[in-house]
Amino acid sequence: MNLSKAIRKNIFQIVSHSSKVIKQDSYIIGGYVRDLLLRKIKSCDLDILTIGEGIRLAKEVAKNIYKYTKVFHPIRMFKRYGTAMLKYDNQTIEFVGSRIESYPNPNSRNPIVKLGTLQDDQNRRDFTINTLAISLNSNNYGELIDPFGGVSDLKNKILKTPLNADITYSDDPLRMLRAIRFATELQFFIEKKSFQSIKKNKNRINILPKERIIEEFNKILLSSKPSIGLLLMKKSGLLSIILPELSVLEGIEEKDGFKHKDNFYHTLQVVDNLSREKCNSLWLKWVGLLHDIGKTQTKKFFPKVGWTFHSHEYVGSQMISNIFKRLKLPKGNILKYVKKMVKNSYRPISLVGNNISDSAIRRLLFDLGNDIEDLIKLSLSDITTGSIEKKKQYENNISFLIKRIKQIENKDCIMNWKSPISGNDIMSAFDINPCKKIGIIKNYIKNSILEGKISNDFSSAYYFMLKKGKELGLKKK
Ligand code: ATP
Ligand code: MG
Repeated sequence: MNLSKAIRKNIFQIVSHSSKVIKQDSYIIGGYVRDLLLRKIKSCDLDILTIGEGIRLAKEVAKNIYKYTKVFHPIRMFKRYGTAMLKYDNQTIEFVGSRIESYPNPNSRNPIVKLGTLQDDQNRRDFTINTLAISLNSNNYGELIDPFGGVSDLKNKILKTPLNADITYSDDPLRMLRAIRFATELQFFIEKKSFQSIKKNKNRINILPKERIIEEFNKILLSSKPSIGLLLMKKSGLLSIILPELSVLEGIEEKDGFKHKDNFYHTLQVVDNLSREKCNSLWLKWVGLLHDIGKTQTKKFFPKVGWTFHSHEYVGSQMISNIFKRLKLPKGNILKYVKKMVKNSYRPISLVGNNISDSAIRRLLFDLGNDIEDLIKLSLSDITTGSIEKKKQYENNISFLIKRIKQIENKDCIMNWKSPISGNDIMSAFDINPCKKIGIIKNYIKNSILEGKISNDFSSAYYFMLKKGKELGLKKK
């Protein structure tokens, strides 16, 4: 196959010319070629393989880009790896020299590297569909070089390793997660033999830095159908190593004719539903993933009543700090958000019916602030019942709640609420220094507003401040 028409962009001609000058053959390789053949050019990443030194080619390319554009494009060199990177025309171009890799240390995925041929370099790649190379050399410019049948695997939607799967996965266990990630993003199948090999090598995942695991895991979550990858992780045994809190949710128990749903499969549906909601917020997806993890600890059976999971959302939210710490996920506001959302995940569903008080809605708005929108998205995604009637009813309940939220927010402005009385107002009214009583008064005013005893304005709040101050033995100045 010759793809010279598809690679008419001038960067390829510049690389081709530069390779000729320094007498190092060069190829486009990996993800760019795969995506080009899939007609899915999403990536602005371009990998150039050269038979020789990557840095040398990058320098020559930068020189020729300058000649062509009169703009200096700096290169970043990674001397330790013999690679270089250049940004040009909204693309990140990576230059790498062809190499043979060996992995003598079983505790490390960092290989020992030697200069090799194009074929050596294709051998070391993870999947046949990622070994594809297009020549940039004048004798066969545009020719596709496909020694492992990658094109046919692309057509058949198959992921398989170019060499022995056991060795490939054991050498660099990140490839197991990459297999599952590509299977999810591209909706491809992992070849049976290869999947067996992932199962066999699952414990090798322990040599990976957590950050690399999470990088792949997050790509799975951000895909349009994360359940594909989550299920493959479950079936391979990788999930119970990475996130056992989730994998133990699998299973249905039945007693005296009472059954509960399978909370693992329910969670997968919730995360898929969030993707369908066009949600590209990674952290809301994490919320969906973790929203039911408290169910294992809170599960109880009551005769004649059935299964209950009381306070599972609270127990679940308490488990999140440890998970985030273990997986080196962010601290600070992101962690706070995920905990808060899981803790409140059940609230909208419990706020249904005509007799929900305004104050319950004001409290929800106060506690959630701007995150109320995400909580509603989660609640809608949490509806996974198979019954069309029930689904309709739950959706109507949420629509009704949204209407009430809008009405109350328009009237009372609670979402970004700031107390109409500040600590300074209290101190100067009673002529006191900072002390506990200020907090008590502020809390009293807040609760009185949320409960609807007073309106959300300065004069009503001032009157209540005086009243509470008096109860606390304070005298107005
Ligand atoms: P994407 O950029 O969409 O994630 P990609 O295939 O381009 O997909 P990169 O991580 O950019 O992935 O890697 C570029 C190429 O390098 C891959 O196509 C593959 O040939 C090779 N590669 C990357 N990581 C590995 C690995 N762990 N083991 C073997 N080959 C790898
Ligand atoms: Mg890439």
